[in-house]
Amino acid sequence: MKIICIGRNYTEHIKELKNERPESPVVFLKPDSAILPKKMPFFIPSFSEDIHYEVEILIKINKVGKHIDAKFAHKYYDEIGLGIDFTARDIQKKCKEKGLPWEKAKAFDGSAVVGDFVAKESLDIASIDFKLLKNEITVQQGNSQQMLWGFDELIAYVSQYFTLKKGDIIFTGTPAGVGKVTENDVLIGILQGTESFKIKVK
Ligand code: ZN
Repeated sequence: MKIICIGRNYTEHIKELKNERPESPVVFLKPDSAILPKKMPFFIPSFSEDIHYEVEILIKINKVGKHIDAKFAHKYYDEIGLGIDFTARDIQKKCKEKGLPWEKAKAFDGSAVVGDFVAKESLDIASIDFKLLKNEITVQQGNSQQMLWGFDELIAYVSQYFTLKKGDIIFTGTPAGVGKVTENDVLIGILQGTESFKIKVK
């Protein structure tokens, strides 16, 4: 399986990183080795001094598709989840400055937290509330209606480039409030009122 990530999908987050609003979604990939195994702590990698959390809504793809039309995109996912796109912000900054790819900053082992999935029927897709608590304090919160590109548009867009396969996961971008993790932090993701993941940082 593969993980397809969307960058710059929330206006307030674009502002906080002083990025330009893109004309089309920013897309990057994480390999399956990036997934943090369930119940494992997140170990801060030695190569970075500035690991940031980014909480994001996840879409799990349920069948093969390519060049999917937005109006049929809803048939390609039944489950929605919540996760973290851990980012080595210091390395990403260097990569951006030099115009280099982001993989070292975004695709390292453990950089993809994949929480529990729920049936999409149990949610109002157009208005999903989610938040991230760090040490019991809310540090990020968002709603799917704030996304510049919604789920169906994202599926249509990325499937022009990548064949989507059953089990692939799309990380749909993060709202404002990203920040640094330090040892002993506890991160809890809440999707529409229900805990989706709990991660200890080591
Ligand atoms: Zn992200």
